[in-house]
Amino acid sequence: MTEATRPGLAAFRAAAARIAPHVRRTFCDPSPALSDRAGVPVWLKLEHQQITGAFKLRGASNAILQLPADTVGVTTASTGNHGRAVAHAARARGLRAVICLSELVPENKRAAIRALGAEARIIGMSQDEAFIEAQRLVRDEGFALIPPFDHPHVVAGQGTLGLEMADAVPDAAVVAIPLSGGGLLAGVAAAMKALNPRIRVVGVSMERGAAMAASLRAGHPVEIPERPTLADSLGGGIGLDNGLTFAMVRDLIDDLVLLTEAEIAAGLRHLYLHERQIVEGAAAVGVGAILAGKLPAKGPIIIPLSGGNIDMALHARIMAGDLPDLMEP
Ligand SMILES: *Cc1c(COP(=O)(O)O)cnc(C)c1O
Repeated sequence: MTEATRPGLAAFRAAAARIAPHVRRTFCDPSPALSDRAGVPVWLKLEHQQITGAFKLRGASNAILQLPADTVGVTTASTGNHGRAVAHAARARGLRAVICLSELVPENKRAAIRALGAEARIIGMSQDEAFIEAQRLVRDEGFALIPPFDHPHVVAGQGTLGLEMADAVPDAAVVAIPLSGGGLLAGVAAAMKALNPRIRVVGVSMERGAAMAASLRAGHPVEIPERPTLADSLGGGIGLDNGLTFAMVRDLIDDLVLLTEAEIAAGLRHLYLHERQIVEGAAAVGVGAILAGKLPAKGPIIIPLSGGNIDMALHARIMAGDLPDLMEP
């Protein structure tokens, strides 16, 4: 695929104005407990308190608000939060939504999509298989595809989170961003580097099944097996025909940190016990990276808590110190 046009500051600002009536401007708070641990000021962007529980509403809204008036419906394949965001943004525009999910997506996320008035269609054991069904809907039924990350309007929407973080902490030295398909990192890093060129961008993924990390190592998009992880929203491939986020992440990322499941669980526990925040595994990786001593020792550090949609029974087990058996190889 030829590379799509990369969104820049003008696109991020236009997206911010477009989506402002539909998304929440989330709080950004200092964390005394983490600042103490890190020895530098640490700020948390509380994006898990976004409507639908994750930043994905920004990109989905920015894309759906730009569809032509005669659009019959929208579809996507998603590990959950993007599907939920598309369902919400479609309903806000009065459009039909069909969300294609893999069997690995937890039940709480499927139910949330149905509760938003969308159809949740369960297909196959990987995000790639679910994606084939979404493509069929586009081909045979004329739906508009809203990709979870690899689209300039989606990246521009996620970049609005970077604008808000740059506003809150203009002198941030490090931003630690959860990394999967790279829409979040591409948008946030491009926005923050445009405003503060010296900021260091750290991508954080899990050791198990991080497709972007493997692709960066290979120098091109590669597929790797999907594995169960506490950071389930960071699972899934980046698309062998990735046309935008792979190149943007490659060019914008300064460091890549990988966490064990125990390190992710430690992040979840810290956020609950010391920050009073309930987040999902994918959103805890930045804090997990601080606690594991894996971030550069410079500050201020800013961390987006990217989502809060965790199964509460799983959360309770992790708080009790139980690392669930999804840790098996
Ligand atoms: C999607 C998602 C991510 C990763 O975003 P990408 O754009 O795929 O890199 C991180 N955290 C949460 C909660 C998500 O839903």
